[in-house]
Amino acid sequence: MNSEPKKGMAYLVGAGPGRADLITLRGAELLRIADCLIVDKLANPALLELARKDAEIIHVPKRIGPGSFTQDQINRILVEKALAGKTVVRLKGGDPCIFGRCTEEAVLLNEAGVDFEIVPGITAAIAASEYTGIMLTDRRYSSQVAFITGREAEGKEDTNIDWNVLAHFPGTLVFYMGISTLPTIAGQLMANGRSGETPVALVANATLPSQRIVRAPLSGIVETCSREKIEPPALIIVGEAARGAAALNWFMRKPLFGRSVLVTRDAEGNSEVSQKIVARGGNPVEFATIGIKPLTDRDEFLQVLAELTSYDWVIFTSPNGVTVFFDALSALGKDARVFGPVRLAALGDKTAASLARYGIKADFVPTVFTGYELGVQLAALANLHEKKVLLLRSELASKELVGVLEQAGAQVRDVPIYTAVSQQGDTAGLEEEIRQGRIHWLTFASPSAVRSFFEQVRPEAVNAGSAKVASIGPVTSKELVKLGVRIDVEATEHTTDGMFDAIEEAQRTL
Ligand code: SAH
Repeated sequence: MNSEPKKGMAYLVGAGPGRADLITLRGAELLRIADCLIVDKLANPALLELARKDAEIIHVPKRIGPGSFTQDQINRILVEKALAGKTVVRLKGGDPCIFGRCTEEAVLLNEAGVDFEIVPGITAAIAASEYTGIMLTDRRYSSQVAFITGREAEGKEDTNIDWNVLAHFPGTLVFYMGISTLPTIAGQLMANGRSGETPVALVANATLPSQRIVRAPLSGIVETCSREKIEPPALIIVGEAARGAAALNWFMRKPLFGRSVLVTRDAEGNSEVSQKIVARGGNPVEFATIGIKPLTDRDEFLQVLAELTSYDWVIFTSPNGVTVFFDALSALGKDARVFGPVRLAALGDKTAASLARYGIKADFVPTVFTGYELGVQLAALANLHEKKVLLLRSELASKELVGVLEQAGAQVRDVPIYTAVSQQGDTAGLEEEIRQGRIHWLTFASPSAVRSFFEQVRPEAVNAGSAKVASIGPVTSKELVKLGVRIDVEATEHTTDGMFDAIEEAQRTL
């Protein structure tokens, strides 16, 4: 018997500069196992989706005002949680130790006898440089770079900043936390001999779809900053490097950069689609329209499950169907072996990938992802005459697939295992965003998404605005046409990637 109390462990983890997937593998791994997460304001909230459902999440913003935390309070929570035997992740923006008060936290953990590990992260300066084409150490003009805190620029008597040294620094200066003290920074550099002509760049929200960059010579940067309303988090980059090279600014020239794209799928689908938009440089705006309601408690489902191996083919037409099916299976204490020798078809790569997650390789995936094509192609490949085919799909699915399969001689059983139910979103707010032109694209990935969306938002509000409408394919488009909604783009490949490809193509020619 071990009567020693469980000893906690603290991890000081860098969340990376903004975009969620710029965290390290080690950092992500620790987020998944943590009992308790103590989270800075700058860490991307999407990272918390990695955390266990039962993990305790404590937000510790350090802004001024109610709900904010002092460094002492944060230190105390950190030590307390670790001493209680928990695995604690202290998640900080960028790198945990670059202007991150890491030393204080580590010293206190040492004093309390708590072991800790520090997990580096990509610091804002490096990320901002690489996402804008401002090369901090381009050998032609900068063999050195300095990271400086702008917080010490004001009101601090015992500052360590030597303005004379910085003004004559032969390289690139990067100021963190300097937007509010920009007048002092610019003024001190010039007063100490730096030329007013020196190039300066401000980079805000680096790596995020809202990334902005403004440039001006040192003498004009304060005016430019207030005119352009640059707000923190932002960096001030001073020196020849700040000129940047447009040719290296790969991020901001992505076709979806700066575009707000509304996604209208069920909440689960939303976050996955949102990641794709972020990867293409766009800004996802999620509007939940559909919730998935399983129908697997019906007798009909339990009955087909019992006789599953009597079928020749089972067809899944969506990832939702696969998830709902396997959730029900697992609740019944069963697993993928219920299929025995039955062959499986999947409508689309996503559905096949969902099956793969449960250890099943689909026997057939059509080359075109519509129900009709699945039926036609499957009939061409396999003799379906008098074969028993089971469809496990949405109650709302079109009957077209059933018709095609029956025509090929199959005995089809179409069993609904889930249905889509509407969810209420912030309709008035969204209509206003559309009216003001702040949403650039509306995307629709299924007829039921169209229906639920336009139960809440008026078609006229969309038609009257400048937002463009994209449809994933003909079945979805038909629903839009029925409601009188103008369609600007229809995907040729009926996947979400296909739809974003089509949007990018249209965006290029706008
Ligand atoms: N530990 C962090 C820095 C914390 S200090 C790191 O390594 O990045 C906070 C300052 O970091 C902000 O005031 C801003 O100057 C800078 N910063 C953080 N994230 C940023 C981002 N996405 N874009 C621009 N600057 C950022």
